[in-house]
Amino acid sequence: MKVADKVAIVTGGGNGIGGALAAKLAQQDARVLVADLDADAARAVADGINAERPGAAIAAGADVADTAQIQRLINLAESGFGPVDLYFANAGITGVVGLDATEKDWDRSFDINVRAHIRAAQLLIPGWVERGEGYFISTASAAGLLTQLGSATYAVTKHAAVGFAEWLNITYGDQGVRVSCLCPMGVNTKLLYEGEQSGHPLGELATRAVTSAGDVLEPADVADSVLAAIDDERFLILPHAAVLDMYRQKAADYDRWLRGMRRYQRSLQGEML
Ligand code: NAD
Repeated sequence: MKVADKVAIVTGGGNGIGGALAAKLAQQDARVLVADLDADAARAVADGINAERPGAAIAAGADVADTAQIQRLINLAESGFGPVDLYFANAGITGVVGLDATEKDWDRSFDINVRAHIRAAQLLIPGWVERGEGYFISTASAAGLLTQLGSATYAVTKHAAVGFAEWLNITYGDQGVRVSCLCPMGVNTKLLYEGEQSGHPLGELATRAVTSAGDVLEPADVADSVLAAIDDERFLILPHAAVLDMYRQKAADYDRWLRGMRRYQRSLQGEML
């Protein structure tokens, strides 16, 4: 899909990957609703875009854990720009590390990392099927294909996000709905360093596992990979090419991969002593 003249919503657009996606979309002549829990951050990103391309962005504060707020975003984009063509389900949280995450912690991770995607799809896909066109871009993570050392909430919810995106692609792909799934390893954003800053050993392990596994990319480079994949209408977006080999190794010999992950975890824990 060419994004020029299209209408996009980017959640988690106030920072990091979402902010970079919003900026790149506008550079390619799309109009963007920048949505974030942090309304000021969303406004700052939209202001930056409008300074270069007046009228190309609208900002909105919204919590994607609430269906009514997602509906409000869709209404805002429609009234400001027209029907929504692309939805970037990008907002995400690291959640609480370790097995002692509470029911509430698990709910919050599922709400933002998975159910927010389901809610948006429920609101948008029927209209897209009617129009015969629409594009859903899920920001999952390499953790959704491999794992996240230290954090079960992140590993599990990101696997679920990949599973939901696959299902959407298969179910609606023949009716004009496009679906892609972004699965990066480390990206230089606030989220990546939250574990390290949490003071919890498993949080530190979670951050180190990512920063030691490969290059930490800049959000703008990740956004370039996403826009290239949208142009190609390619499902799996891997800004770190090595993830594909890791994923193949996992599928080829699961027990060997698990032993390797335990070895990697032990080596990181040794460094942290
Ligand atoms: P970030 O912290 O820079 O941005 C995340 C944004 O999401 C923040 O602006 C935050 O306010 C917003 N947000 C959080 N909860 C929200 C909610 N309930 N409703 C609306 N907005 C909400 O982090 P980022 O790295 O840019 O994260 C974007 C996505 O990329 C996330 O889904 C994350 O899991 C994923 N990801 C990040 C990395 C990485 O290394 N940074 C790697 C793989 C995947």
